[in-house]
Amino acid sequence: MSSSHLIRKKTLENGKLVIISGPSGVGKGTICREVVKRCNVVVSVSATTRKPGKNEVNGVDYWFLSKEEFEARIENGELIEYAEVFGNYYGTPRKELEELLNTNATVILEIDIQGALQVLDVYPKATTIFILPPDIDVLRARMEKRARDNGENNERRLEQASREIAQAWQYFKNMVVNDDLEQAINEVVDIIESGD
Ligand code: 5GP
Repeated sequence: MSSSHLIRKKTLENGKLVIISGPSGVGKGTICREVVKRCNVVVSVSATTRKPGKNEVNGVDYWFLSKEEFEARIENGELIEYAEVFGNYYGTPRKELEELLNTNATVILEIDIQGALQVLDVYPKATTIFILPPDIDVLRARMEKRARDNGENNERRLEQASREIAQAWQYFKNMVVNDDLEQAINEVVDIIESGD
């Protein structure tokens, strides 16, 4: 039996867990940053093997790890979920999350859909919010504006986005369209406060 079968389902009587996912470039990061300013929530700091961006700070935006360090954390069961996203590992540190939930905090996980499904196995009562683009052309334009990748990668991200959106309808309770940013933020705040 794998160790995952031994993990008891957690009921969240302590803190509250909110999973926010959505395709790359949809604006989840912007929404999360605003939500943190407006409600009493914390965002869990993920670990990643991708290189830090220009203004990113270790321990604030991510824990930036080498591949070897990340794989050691997987081996030691230190990540509650992890996934490979566009060639890099991303994962949620287990201990920090459990400690935050033990303080009754409302914790946001801004993670990809593969990670979201793993977290739902452990915390089936987590609030799930998927951010949608108004349409695929808007998503393409936003990806190009971000310009982190070349055109080829953007196409790959777009294909991935279509697959993820199809999957999200099955697993996410709340879908929020990020057309008008302010409205999207308000919807996310409402969902978190109503505990849906
Ligand atoms: P970025 O490199 O643009 O910051 O993030 C790329 C993707 O990785 C985004 O879809 C983001 O939600 C996802 N991601 C960030 N942290 C985690 C994590 O801890 N676990 C998983 N599974 N995905 C994550």
